Amino acid sequence: MENKELRVNGKRLRESLERMAEIGAIPGRGVHRLALSDEDREARDLFVGWLKEIDLDVTVDEMGNIFGRRTSKNNGLPPVMAGSHVDSQPNGGRFDGILGVMGTLEVLRTLHENRLITERPIVIVDWTNEEGSRFAPAMVASGVWAGALDRDWAYDRTDINGNRFEDELVRIGYKGQTPCRAWPVHCYYEYHIEQGPVLEKRGKVIGAPKGIVCLHWYDVFLEGVANQVGPTPMAGRHDALCAAAEMILKVNELPDRVGGDLVATVGEIENHPNSRNIIPGKVHFTVDIRSWDDDHAVKAWDLVRKDFEDIASRRGCPMSIEETWKVQHSPFDETLVRRILDAADQLGYPNMRMVSGAGHDASYMNQICPTAMIFVPSIGGRSHVEAENTSWEDCAAGADILLHAILHSAQEG
Ligand SMILES: [Zn+2]
Repeated sequence: MENKELRVNGKRLRESLERMAEIGAIPGRGVHRLALSDEDREARDLFVGWLKEIDLDVTVDEMGNIFGRRTSKNNGLPPVMAGSHVDSQPNGGRFDGILGVMGTLEVLRTLHENRLITERPIVIVDWTNEEGSRFAPAMVASGVWAGALDRDWAYDRTDINGNRFEDELVRIGYKGQTPCRAWPVHCYYEYHIEQGPVLEKRGKVIGAPKGIVCLHWYDVFLEGVANQVGPTPMAGRHDALCAAAEMILKVNELPDRVGGDLVATVGEIENHPNSRNIIPGKVHFTVDIRSWDDDHAVKAWDLVRKDFEDIASRRGCPMSIEETWKVQHSPFDETLVRRILDAADQLGYPNMRMVSGAGHDASYMNQICPTAMIFVPSIGGRSHVEAENTSWEDCAAGADILLHAILHSAQEG
């Protein structure tokens, strides 16, 4: 490792994170900073100001992605890229996304004050609307950048109040001129909180995911027969909610039944007409299945789908199923994963190889260039809630690993 002694300034990283956490701050130490909101604009303005302080060349593309480029000995070489997202979940935490952006900024500040000029340029990025909670789907702007999603389709996404993505982008002043299109990138690193309990439980500080699990989404629609609850005898009812209840438990039991690393969740349900004195006549619910092994996930779904069919016919509730989203598992670049683990060894941080159970902008970047991620522990494994927390020491440790990973890649000729 070059510049072995080099470390980030953990205190300065903490101050940047605390300053950002003021924007959209909510009680319980959380953050509410939805994509393309006034809070998002305020955070972006602050971020751009910080980029300019260290002489980065700032560009904003037509999806609102913000890039800060640091010059190098050879500006013609494809850059090393790193970053994450500034937006948050509704009533979310103060580390998800922003840690990767502030961590990368801290790396660049460290290089700046040490007057270190690398072989390749380094680009820091804030991807617009990673969360997808105001404008679905998630990771939309890195998806457009990578060529996986259509720009105009993304522009037409609307929030719950009918506001268009593009209009909101213009309103906050972040619809840039630069085309949202991938350019050659040497490699991409994303530093992020784990959002799960594994590192903490295993007593590790650094996690290097070997990739991101596959993600299969289904929507299930059930038809029952709505009727007054009092006069309708129990026998012969077609209660769509009871059918759904049985199905939901089958989903919950599925991982135990099939084994492996599979997780399966019903997270959303709509019941119609949702009245206490009417037998539910219509139910919609979602199924989310994830695993490192795509075939395993498909086989598990086939099993539970047969259960669904049995339940639906026994209860006389016709069912239809939509396959909403299917993303294959995405293995990261083994050389970069190894580099992260090696850097952690050399800096003396307990570390482990793992998988990422959540999607990140790194999934789309992985289609463009060699990609890897750095995880640090989430206290209590909590995330997407106000209680989301990571120790300041771990925040600095992850940024140190990012520093050395970026340096290594940026010195490659
Ligand atoms: Zn995130």
